[in-house]
Amino acid sequence: MKEYDVIIVGAGPAGLFAANELKGRANVLIIDMGKGVEERNCPMELTGVCVGCERCGIMCGVGGAGTFSDGTLNLRPDIGGDLAEICGDEELGWWLVRYVDSVFLKYGAPPELYKGEKEEIEELKRRAMSAGARFVEIDQRHIGSDNAKSVIKNFEADLRSEGVDFLLNTNVVDILVEGGKCKGVVIENESGKSLVMGKCTLLAPGRVGAAWMEEIVKKHGIEAAHAGIDIGVRVEVPAIIMDPITKINRDPKFHIRTKRYDDFARTFCTNEHGFVVKEVYDGFVGVNGHSLKNKKSENTNFAFLVHVELTEPVENTTLYGRSVAMLATTIGGGKPLIQRMGDLRRGRRSTWDRIKRNLVQNTLNDVTPGDISMALPHRITMDIIEGLEKLDEVIPGVASDSTLLYAPEIKFYAMRINVNKNMETSIENLFVAGDGAGLSRDIVNAASTGALAGWGIKEKLGIG
Ligand SMILES: Cc1cc2nc3c(=O)[nH]c(=O)nc-3n(C[C@H](O)[C@H](O)[C@H](O)COP(=O)(O)OP(=O)(O)OC[C@H]3O[C@@H](n4cnc5c(N)ncnc54)[C@H](O)[C@@H]3O)c2cc1C
Repeated sequence: MKEYDVIIVGAGPAGLFAANELKGRANVLIIDMGKGVEERNCPMELTGVCVGCERCGIMCGVGGAGTFSDGTLNLRPDIGGDLAEICGDEELGWWLVRYVDSVFLKYGAPPELYKGEKEEIEELKRRAMSAGARFVEIDQRHIGSDNAKSVIKNFEADLRSEGVDFLLNTNVVDILVEGGKCKGVVIENESGKSLVMGKCTLLAPGRVGAAWMEEIVKKHGIEAAHAGIDIGVRVEVPAIIMDPITKINRDPKFHIRTKRYDDFARTFCTNEHGFVVKEVYDGFVGVNGHSLKNKKSENTNFAFLVHVELTEPVENTTLYGRSVAMLATTIGGGKPLIQRMGDLRRGRRSTWDRIKRNLVQNTLNDVTPGDISMALPHRITMDIIEGLEKLDEVIPGVASDSTLLYAPEIKFYAMRINVNKNMETSIENLFVAGDGAGLSRDIVNAASTGALAGWGIKEKLGIG
């Protein structure tokens, strides 16, 4: 049986960037349950129907979850994670972001950087501050949905040319732990179940592998804690309302502290001229947003989310989030709820009659007009109303009566695995990186934690 120096589970940004640090220096095997980048397709592009990224397999395969998005690189260490906290060094956090960006550039990401004009940004920051919000200035690089596949293809080709092996369409079902040390993984594919031995193992299974990771954590007693979740709504407004802001930043980030509860609320995942989509999970429905290459709506949508952390005796945020989502699904009769901002403010449900007469027309029709305050906890509902009203001072019209709100939009995150600065877990020779380990929530942060794990593994193997 061949023993590898390093086994990497997951060919997303975290896994690829770890391999990038190890290529040519160690025998590396990357295992992924998904397909090669050429064989991957987004069903929505082919059929126009979205069944939810978490469920259609689009999140699996070489390139990982973001391969079919427009691939926006948020070039900040504190968006999509907290690199300074993870590596204990703010400067290193910024360095990692620039380094990850340079690797994407090398493999074909476009050179243009979206920064916005200095004066416009200053003005936006000032307006946000005076309204009690913060506009987070981010340099962004758009790899672009047309380009993303070729960037990943170039990355993969380079890794292969430096001796990195790929084993695709293969599920890693368990890790092999003996005497407190990880010695390899158990895999399952067309040929059945077998063992692959490795001196070091890196688990980078992404969001799609978060439930599996939780099983592994419990089974092997790996030290970990529940992370917070984000609960809120998808907001839909005429694109013209958001245009002055999306012109400066296509995915603008506003951070807000709400007045009554001092909770943290934020905007997330803006889809210019996009569509709201329904996602179906086991036992509940949710909403998300998409923009399409060939079809544009007259609206722009974004998530408005409130961060929730729980402390003893109930720390399991996933269970809490599921309960909220299930209540919302019950009130919506099995469909997401839709409500006009004006109706929410006045404490009355929306009806089809009001929705049809509304100035903003809904891009998702498979919904139930109702009352979001019957579905989400009071605290979150108040945070949403207050937060959007603050945002309205920066983006006039965002909290107008005709603004549409869809619920629930809930972002579940993986359990946060306890790691040292090398990304090594409480089990020796077992490393973790990326979204599946609760260490990141975007491409740049996932890639950075992958690079950190790569360095940690080199040190462990004595090849650093
Ligand atoms: C539709 C969509 C759009 C997005 N757009 C953006 C964006 O524009 N910008 C941005 O920064 N972020 C975006 N993200 C988030 C971003 O894609 C992720 O944060 C990032 O991909 C996480 O990287 P990762 O390597 O941790 O995990 P992933 O990219 O999720 O990769 C994990 C890989 O592990 C494999 N895997 C999991 N479990 C196993 C197992 N047991 N055995 C074998 N293989 C396994 C999976 O098949 C997958 O390929 C988007 C996500 C989605 C779903």
